[in-house]
Amino acid sequence: MFPNVNLEGKARPCLPPFCPAPEIKRIATRNEKAPTVGVTRLSEPLKTRRDCSHPISAKVIVSPSRTKGKAHTVTCHNCQIKAKKFGKDRKGNQRYRCNKCSKTFQEYREKLLGNMYLSEKKALNILNWLVEGSSIRSLQRVTDVHKDTIQSLLHFAGQRCEDLMNRRMRKVLCHDLQFDEIWTFCFMKEKQKTRRNLHNDRIGDAYCFTAFERDTKLLLTWHLGRRTETDTVSFVEKVFDALDGTTNIIQITTDGFPPYPAAIAYALGTRSSYAQLVKIYQTPLAPEDQQRYSPSRIKEAIPTPLWGNPNPERICTSHVERQNLNIRTAMRRYTRLTITFSKKWENLRSALALYFAYYNFCRIHSSLRCTPAMAAGITDTIWDIKDLLRG
Ligand SMILES: [Zn+2]
Repeated sequence: MFPNVNLEGKARPCLPPFCPAPEIKRIATRNEKAPTVGVTRLSEPLKTRRDCSHPISAKVIVSPSRTKGKAHTVTCHNCQIKAKKFGKDRKGNQRYRCNKCSKTFQEYREKLLGNMYLSEKKALNILNWLVEGSSIRSLQRVTDVHKDTIQSLLHFAGQRCEDLMNRRMRKVLCHDLQFDEIWTFCFMKEKQKTRRNLHNDRIGDAYCFTAFERDTKLLLTWHLGRRTETDTVSFVEKVFDALDGTTNIIQITTDGFPPYPAAIAYALGTRSSYAQLVKIYQTPLAPEDQQRYSPSRIKEAIPTPLWGNPNPERICTSHVERQNLNIRTAMRRYTRLTITFSKKWENLRSALALYFAYYNFCRIHSSLRCTPAMAAGITDTIWDIKDLLRG
C-alpha cells in the first residue's frame, strides 16, 4: 500500500507528483541526455490543490526508470565478446565493432511499435486521442493515417495493455470491491441477430464486467463476454487471480444479477463479505421502445447482505456505476445512439484493454490526485502511453 494513502478517506492523501517526496527523483531514460527538470505536463492543473502543505515543484516524475544501475555493454553475436564503439550512422545511432572479427553492427533495440511503419510520435498522438473519446474515422481525417492502420495500432496497443494488466494486477490488496456489467453490442443488436437466426458468439450483446476498488479507485480487472453464468465465473476467477493471497476479508457489493452469488462463493468463498444492492424500478409508463435508453426511475434500493459481515454503510455500487459513465465518455464505441459502435469483437476488446490500462496507470484521478495504480501501491510514478506500450 502506498504509504500516504489513508484508506478510510479521513485525510486527503498527499502524494507525488503534487508533493514530490524527497526520495523520488526523476531518472533519465536511456535516450535522454541528463535528468532534466521542467517536464511539467502535469503541474499546471495542480496549482489549485487545496489541502497540501508542500510547495509545488516543477520536478515531476514522468516515466519509470528502465536503465537504473545497468552497465551498458554490447557483445558481438559472433564471438560473444565485448564490442567497442565505432562511430554513429547518419541517423545518429551508435554503431559498434568487434575487435576480433571486425564486424560492425548496431545494437539491437526492440521497437516500440513492433513491425509497424507508423512514426512513434504519430502513433502516440493517435492513442492519446483514442483514450479521450475520438473515433477512428475522425482520427483518419485529422491525422491522415488510414483507418486500417489506426485499427492495427489499437489492436497492438490493446494486446500490450492486456499483458501489462495481467502482469501488474497481481497480489493487489483490496478491501472494498464493487462489481458491475456495462452493456454494448458488437456488429448488430441481439434483436437483429435473433431475427436473422445467427449463432455467432462474437456478435450481438457484449457485456464488460468490471471490478472496482472503492478506496483506491483501481479498476482491478475486467472481462468482456456475454451476460451468462460462464462469463460471470470467468470474471470472478480473474478477480481471484488479481487479489493478494492474504486472509483479509473483502467486502463485495454487486447488483442483483442472479449468477453472482454462486460465482463469488465458488471463487472467493470465505474471504468475502458479500452483499447485493437490489434495485427495484418503477414500471415504465411509456412503451418499451421509448424507455430503452433512459432507465426507469428507481423506486427502491434494498441492501441485501448474503454472507459474511458486510458493513451496511458501504453496501453501494455508485462508484462502479460512475466508472461506467467514464467508459461511455472516454470510448467512442460506447456512446449510445451513434454509428460508432464496435463492428469487431477483437477491436472492442483492444479498446477496453487500452482504456483500462490508461485509466489505472496514466490518468490522474481528481479525488486521489494521483493515478489509481499509485494509490494501490502498484507503481510510484505516473506513466504515459509510451510506458504502457513498453509494459
Ligand atoms: Zn566478433
